Amino acid sequence: MKNLTMRCSAFLLLLFFATTLQLVAQITAIKAGKLVDPETGTVATNQIIIVENSKIKSVGPGSAVPAGATVIDLSRSTVLPGLFDCHSHLCQMTTAENRDLFTTDIKQSTAYRAIIGVKTAREYLDSGFTTVRDVGNNGNYADTSLRQAVENGIVPGPTIVNAGRIIAPFGGQYFLRPERVELGSPEYFFADTRDEMLKAIRENIHFGSLVIKIVVDDQRYIYSVDDIKFIVEEARRAGLKVAAHCMTEQGARNAAEGGVASIEHGFRMSDEALQLAKKNNVVLVGTDFTVEAAGYLGLDAATSKYFHDTFIDRLKRAYRIGVRMAYGTDTFFEAAGHTRGTLAISYIDSFVEAGIPAKDTLKIMTTNAAQLLGVEKQRGSIKPGMFADIIATPENPLDNIQTLKKVSFVMKNGKVVKNADVR
Ligand SMILES: [Zn+2]
Repeated sequence: MKNLTMRCSAFLLLLFFATTLQLVAQITAIKAGKLVDPETGTVATNQIIIVENSKIKSVGPGSAVPAGATVIDLSRSTVLPGLFDCHSHLCQMTTAENRDLFTTDIKQSTAYRAIIGVKTAREYLDSGFTTVRDVGNNGNYADTSLRQAVENGIVPGPTIVNAGRIIAPFGGQYFLRPERVELGSPEYFFADTRDEMLKAIRENIHFGSLVIKIVVDDQRYIYSVDDIKFIVEEARRAGLKVAAHCMTEQGARNAAEGGVASIEHGFRMSDEALQLAKKNNVVLVGTDFTVEAAGYLGLDAATSKYFHDTFIDRLKRAYRIGVRMAYGTDTFFEAAGHTRGTLAISYIDSFVEAGIPAKDTLKIMTTNAAQLLGVEKQRGSIKPGMFADIIATPENPLDNIQTLKKVSFVMKNGKVVKNADVR
């Protein structure tokens, strides 16, 4: 009997240690030579960031490294929060052989689209993008499956705030034939009446959308201010924001007045429309194409240049007027010599060309974006309690924003996913 009791106690003791070991936190200490706070545009030197499991525990100069902590030495680098792309299409990719969106979308199965997403998600992360908003064009909810796979640790990727199926007036962004209207689905959710809008929003939410994306104005009939207000209110009741694709002046004005969270593209928006967006706290996600990126849309050289110049002109005016902006690229195409991540980061060239100071560009890529996505209490800055989405660059991006193209270290939710910081 005594023997049995002893054996039981030994077993319990073992169980206790095993459980305790499992509960022991994974602690990482990052030595940051320079640490950038994008919110204030300031730099602190020789900081130590303590990461416990997935979150940041403390940040400070020369704090003691806890015993047993894994030390990551980034003392010769600049450390900053992970970047955001608020206008991604993870599961869409046109190729050099076929730049046409319509035929690309209908030829690729949702399963194939999801596999594209696995690749682009990894590439985004590798370039330092730790959060993206995916604004649709993912077949039949490949984006939701991809988001879940990332959340469950099945594949690596950034945090994804996904839109599911894009809601649009009849035809969406396509030009269909009367005998084959079904080809518009599932890519677009046609919604012209209030009942159809309601159903489209609820179906999207049911199937995992975390943001509602509408195309306001790619047909001659566009969503009215009242249509947009109705959509915004229905989405808001479920806690979702609305992103609105606007390529025309009237479309942008309707969206700004309708109270959307963000205007996507805002191509050619007038100063008055930009003022209206500013007044209504609407964020501009400008998708400011570089000439190179525009070239991959299948446009001729002159049109690519016009497209790019128009974006630069609007970007300059939006900055001057003081519209709140968040970084978004609209990359959905294969580009020679680029991954999806390097392509997305190349859009900083447009910000440089428009003369936007590095500290504002950095804010647009981090804190502003986090607020738009509603994740500002979890991500977008390096502070205690935030998820450890941390990157490093060889130089200080406040001095040279181009260094963001050379992200050498990426930590996502406390896990190192890239460390090329060996110099
Ligand atoms: Zn887009």
